[in-house]
Amino acid sequence: MKFADLHLHTQFSDGTFTPEDLVVRAQNAGLACVALTDHDSVEGCERAAAACAKVRMEFIAGAELTAEHDDTEVHVLGYFLDTKNAVLLERIGKFQAVRQNRIREMCAALNQLGVPLQAESVFALANCKSPGRPHVARALVREKLIGNLDEAFEKYLKKGRPAWVPKTKMSALEGVELIHQAGGLAVMAHPGLNRTDDIIPDLVDAGLDGIECFHTKHSTVMAERYLEMAEKYHLLVTGGSDCHGFSKKQPLIGTVKLPYEHVERLKAKHVERLNR
Ligand code: AMP
Ligand code: FE
Ligand code: FE
Ligand code: ZN
Repeated sequence: MKFADLHLHTQFSDGTFTPEDLVVRAQNAGLACVALTDHDSVEGCERAAAACAKVRMEFIAGAELTAEHDDTEVHVLGYFLDTKNAVLLERIGKFQAVRQNRIREMCAALNQLGVPLQAESVFALANCKSPGRPHVARALVREKLIGNLDEAFEKYLKKGRPAWVPKTKMSALEGVELIHQAGGLAVMAHPGLNRTDDIIPDLVDAGLDGIECFHTKHSTVMAERYLEMAEKYHLLVTGGSDCHGFSKKQPLIGTVKLPYEHVERLKAKHVERLNR
């Protein structure tokens, strides 16, 4: 049996692996195919594709767009993206700027609380265009301003905590459209994690192509529920570990194994779309 992991992060967002590290790990995990899905970024795709080509692993260029619909945060995965698409790069660039400003606001809030973390220090650690809360948490730990990453989220960064800053997001409908115009397939990420069940019909109407049924944080019961939804709404089925390297307790790559038949269905729909 061949397996894929279609939800992976690198240093180009909040993961700790380089694209090359990730591919070595994918090989060691026995995966036949991987997709890179950094938050609001496609920058790592070229290097990941090159690393995969060297070891004859199948690679799918992707991204995970942070979006919202009806006040619900929803992550929209794009697969088979044209990573040079001008409209995609322009829109992603705008949301990368939003992320960078938000880091400054979070640091200002921390400073108000008497925690002397500088935004420049977070940027230096993140060293990417798409920084996020995990980078703030890591910088706090590195500067011994907090004991560990969990504490950083619990005390300061979780929604509702004093250094949490809301993020301006694109609408999910725009996310789906943006992915489509860049030649990609749009998939709702981890609906069980973001509790986005109620908005599935609206996204289906907007042309959603698939739903991430298998995910680290989905129980077996959840996966079954989303498989049923996929059938009901004629959606493709995807899955992945959402590996962030050592940003989370342990690297998760390969712990969620998507049977390769689902990749074949994704590819068939992608080809069908291109030929239309
Ligand atoms: P952001 O995009 O800046 O809002 O950060 C969201 C990212 O932070 C998610 O993709 C996770 O990788 C991570 N994250 C969110 N909540 C937690 C938490 N409680 N502990 C550790 N990491 C978290
Ligand atoms: Fe993340
Ligand atoms: Fe996500
Ligand atoms: Zn993710």
